[in-house]
This record gives sequence, C-alpha cells and structure tokens, in this order.
Amino acid sequence: MTYDVDSVFELRCKDLLGRIGRLKTRHGVIETPVLFPVINPLNQIITINDIYFKFKVKSIITNAYLLKKHFKEQAIIQGIHDLLNFKGVVMTDSGAYQILKYGSVDIDPKDIVLFQKNIGSDIGVILDIPTGWKTDRKHAEYTVLETIKRASDAVQLIDGGDMLWVGPLQGGKYMDLIEYSAIKMKELPFHIYALGSPTAVMEQYRYDLLIDMIFAAKKNIPPNRPFHLFGAGHPLMFAIAVALGCDIFDSASYALYARDDRYVTEYGTIKFERLNYLPCTCPACSKASINELRQMSKKSREKILAEHNLYMCINEINKIKQSIIDGRLWELLEIRCRSHPSLMKALVKLRKYLIYLERNTPISKKRGIFIFDMVSLNRPEIFRYKRWLINRYIPPIEKDTLILVPSTNMKKPYHKSSIIKKVIECISKASNLDHARVHICIYDILFGLIPLEIDDIYPISQCETAVEASYNNNFRKKLVYQIVKFINKFKKNYKHYIIVTDKILNRKHLDFIEKTCNIKVKAVESYYDLLRL
Ligand SMILES: [Zn+2]
Repeated sequence: MTYDVDSVFELRCKDLLGRIGRLKTRHGVIETPVLFPVINPLNQIITINDIYFKFKVKSIITNAYLLKKHFKEQAIIQGIHDLLNFKGVVMTDSGAYQILKYGSVDIDPKDIVLFQKNIGSDIGVILDIPTGWKTDRKHAEYTVLETIKRASDAVQLIDGGDMLWVGPLQGGKYMDLIEYSAIKMKELPFHIYALGSPTAVMEQYRYDLLIDMIFAAKKNIPPNRPFHLFGAGHPLMFAIAVALGCDIFDSASYALYARDDRYVTEYGTIKFERLNYLPCTCPACSKASINELRQMSKKSREKILAEHNLYMCINEINKIKQSIIDGRLWELLEIRCRSHPSLMKALVKLRKYLIYLERNTPISKKRGIFIFDMVSLNRPEIFRYKRWLINRYIPPIEKDTLILVPSTNMKKPYHKSSIIKKVIECISKASNLDHARVHICIYDILFGLIPLEIDDIYPISQCETAVEASYNNNFRKKLVYQIVKFINKFKKNYKHYIIVTDKILNRKHLDFIEKTCNIKVKAVESYYDLLRL
C-alpha cells in the first residue's frame, strides 16, 4: 500500500489552531495530539512492555543512528518491532540530536534513510542538520540549505511505499529562514512536517520566541499535514504548543528529569529533595510514600519518578484533547500560562496571530466562554465578533437615531432584560423621540458595541465574566475606540446620537467621540433622562 501525503491525516475536531486528528500508519491509527516517548534501545528505564501495556502508549520513537551503530544487521534481519518487542507504531529519528549534541555524526544521510526503511520503521526522519540556538546567521543559512538539499536527495528513496516520512524545518531563531525552509520543504512529498530542535529555546523559557518559530513554520505548510515539535516533553507547554497547531511531540524528558531526581508537574519541574508531599496519585506515586521514596536507592527512585513523569505527560495530553472537544482550549491555556511569567508573555503575544487562531476556532461551541481579565479579551471569539460587526453587519435602514446604553446590571440576553424593557418604555414616552426610528446598541467592555437585535449571536449571551464591574481606564479606552470605529463605519445611517453615560463615559470621552467622528452627541446620565429629551 502507498500512503499518499494528503490522505494519511484526518482532522476530527478543532479549537484555536489545536486539533484532534487521526494519523494512519501501517501499525495502526494514532490519535493526535500525541506524545511519542523516546526509547533508548541501550538503556531504557521503563520497560517497553510497561510502556505498551501499563501506560497504554501505542507509539514510540527511537534513534536509528544508535540502532545502526549498535545492532547493525541484527536490526535489519529482525526488524525494529521484533528487536524492540513493540507491537505499536515505531518512529525513528536519524541522528540529528547527536549532531546537535556532538557537532557531527559518522553517517551518510542516504544510508540512514535506507536503514530506517530496511528495519521497517513506521515513521522515518531524514538526517537534517539542526540549526541550534547559539548559531550565527551564516551557519543557520547553511543548516537550512543543507537540510533542504538532503530532503530533495532523499525523495527518490522515500517516495511511494507505506512508510511515513518527516520533513524537518530548520532556521533556529531566524524566522525568515524557518519560513524559507517551510516554503521549500512543502514542495517535497513529506507526510509530516517538524520544527527542528527548539529544545534550547524551551530550556531558556523563551516561549515568546517559540510561538514565533511555530507560526513561521505553520503558516507556510499545508494545514492537512501533522506538525511535529521535536524534543518538546514538558506538560507545562503542551497546551500552548497544541493551541498553535503542534500535533506530535517526542521527548526523553520523562527519563532525563528522573535521572536528575526531578519531579514533573503541569506547572513546572520540582527537585525531589524540595518535595514535602507528593502532589499526585498516579499509579507510580501510589506505590510509595514520600519518606519511602527518600529512603530508597537512587536507581529505584529514578524508575518511579520516570513513571510519574510519563504519566503526567500523558495526562496533560488527554486534558488538552478533552478541552479541544469541549471548546475550552483557551481556558486551559490561561490556566497553564499562569504557571510561569514567560508563558504568560507568550499568551499575550498570541494577539499578533489572532487572525490565524480565529480562522480555526469553531463559530459556535456547545459551551459558553469564560472571561477572567484583560488577557481573556484576546480570545479569538471576541476578536471575531468585533471583526464581523465592522465587516459584515448592516444596521436597519429605517433607524436614524443611535442610542448607546451600557450593559451594566443587564441580564443576558440583553433584549429580554428588564432594564432594556424600561429603556424602550422611556424611549416610547419621550416626546422628542420617534421610537420607530431609534436603534438601540448596548455598549460593553468585552464586546464593544452590540446592536440589540443581534445580542444572541455566540458568544455574547454565552459568556461568563469576572470583569463586568471593573471598568478601569484601559477598558474605557478600548470601549471608546470601539464606539468610534462603529460610528465612523455606519455614519451615513444615523442623524442623531445619544449616549447613556451612566458614569462610565465622561465628558472627555464624549469630546473624543464627537471630534473623531465629526458628530454631535447628546449625553444623558441615566436612561430615565431619555424621557426629558
Ligand atoms: Zn504521580
């Protein structure tokens, strides 16, 4: 069977740029997002049998370079699945990690591609040259061009057949090089694209840079291909990586942290000696008390810590998948990003990529959205509403008097609230207002302006907020900007403008609106004052 590059990955569910997908391989279908634990064929702390049966992990990654060096013909004769005694999906890396660590490896790029084919790997990676972190521009350019050349050379070896191949994208911290790499690599028939070695960026907590790197790659590759983030193995950052469209992770960190006596949590890594309590009840942590763990040999503890660390990674991937199905990936992101300021910095920076996030976020969801603070205002659902209001909304033509009323104390949906009923009553009794020509819009710190007739559009009425009562100056400024944008866009529809200020908008705000829109505004403090107009 031949696996066509466009038919191996099927998308099931999306939220932000995160997705649940199904990747077809010759050893079964893998559901993504997924973590491939790195298996060291020479020194494996958790047995491969336990990985499959106890952890229910059906896909692993191992190093073809090490297999070739230590097992040679035996690996080809037995095949990788028999050699490792693993029934699931086996992916092989080609030695790029060793290049990054030791500078070079004594292996021919074509030989390692053929070796991966010959041992029956399900997913193979060409031998790329990782750019690394402390790399000058000239060397970074070399790594990109050489990786593209090796990828082109490998095409005749990898084309056809039922093995999947990964095209690594390089460029390091140079975004234009990552973009160039992606544009060139997408012309080649790879089933999966991967961002090469961002490990150093993650180790330095430069998540703000990591999101730029991921976007530089993602926006230039076909959206129907899975995207692999090499060497990412901490639950702290899985949510933001998935939200940006990463589908596959691989990491040895569960074992490496354990070797270093470190305990992984979803909000960071803790040195074991600092722990007074075990904040987890996974099967590994249930095996021994904290005192028993302290007293056991380092080797025995290393195994339990590695097991716990792997459980944490798997748990987090499952939580992320559930949040995609629930349409709550943003909520999970906000929780995780509060674990470390550098993650919060990255979350705030996502504003730069809202147009991409919005495109992939469902138009309506089964559940409402939560707004916690200013950061939540960057949600793609709010961005979408504001964009649609300006680009798609058409005000009713028979109305020429725009009355803006604050959402303060109003129950949702606004058109059914008792306050709006009173506002309408006041308008109908006001002698100087023709109520048939009045267009009521609600103004609101979250959504800006909401024409009353569309207030049941998702998520206006399906939104719970903690910021309703706190009109600080920042919120007010944003609100005034939204009002100005709306009036400027629809000025030809209205002759008269009335704003119920309710102590939210002051004279300075009104002056700004009048001056910027070149209109006259009548201001009243409360909706009862409409009666006196
Ligand atoms: Zn645990």
